[in-house]
Amino acid sequence: MRIAAIAVVFVALIAFGIYLTGGSSPEEDTSSSSVAATGAVKASPSPSAVVESLPRENSSAKISDEQQEHAKQMAHGMAAQHARHENAMQGEGQEDTVHWGYRGPGAPANWSSLSADYAICGSGRNQSPVDLRGFVDAELPVLDFNYSGMALEILNNGHTVQANYVPGTVLVIDGRGFELKQFHFHAPSENLIDGKSYPLEAHLVHADKDGNLAVVSVLYELGDANNALARLWSQMPEKSGDKAILNAQVKAGELLPKDRDYYRFNGSLTTPPCSQGVIWLVMKEHPTVSRQQVEQFSRVLGGPNNRPAQPLNARLVLE
Ligand SMILES: [Zn+2]
Repeated sequence: MRIAAIAVVFVALIAFGIYLTGGSSPEEDTSSSSVAATGAVKASPSPSAVVESLPRENSSAKISDEQQEHAKQMAHGMAAQHARHENAMQGEGQEDTVHWGYRGPGAPANWSSLSADYAICGSGRNQSPVDLRGFVDAELPVLDFNYSGMALEILNNGHTVQANYVPGTVLVIDGRGFELKQFHFHAPSENLIDGKSYPLEAHLVHADKDGNLAVVSVLYELGDANNALARLWSQMPEKSGDKAILNAQVKAGELLPKDRDYYRFNGSLTTPPCSQGVIWLVMKEHPTVSRQQVEQFSRVLGGPNNRPAQPLNARLVLE
């Protein structure tokens, strides 16, 4: 709808430009078009409408590779680039567009109204995170968490600190292969267990070949410093948008507890666009993290980066 309206304005302004120049050479047409294009953007009642329509155009033209890219984007990876893109598009004096975050006008309670693309953040019935409770006994299969490969780079996208993983590491769930794309962190935890919050949560984000997502969640409790996190944190980029190639080896399996029992339920991305249909596997055992490690993470992000727990509604949590 917005795109159609902008197109109408655009065509009208081009026509007006041609009218003013009285039918002109191709060169002049080009210049009047660019004037018209500038005018169209400025004349639009909402510059954010133009900006926000761009990702939607991209996501509507899905092919397999793009779906994977989209999956990664949804899982925070492109968030900072998206933010920078928005800033670049807005220019000076147009800073009224609210970007999603964890505080102020862009806080989680407002996500669904920030963009039509984020509507399901408010209307969805299977949103994450949740307060896991009312567990249902199930014969959950033993999963082979024998991850190969290692993290390649670590980045700060303004919403989280994320490590992108070398391609080719696959976790098999329900007979389907899910490739580990990246892992990132939230402090305090997003998921709760029987109402209990934890100081830090890791999300290991996997995608199958069709872009379906599965997230393995690890909740850390306060205690001794965590070795794998220490190696990651030593290269944690302090500024939003920065990234670093990891010198130290960090394997995904090092983030997991020794005991591999887990809870399972259906949920969503915990960040906009809050897409549903995500398989959640939450580890039952809790590795330790030191208070100092949690504080370092929170200091870099400027405060908490957890979405509050969402209603379970009709969902069952299997164990
Ligand atoms: Zn997450």
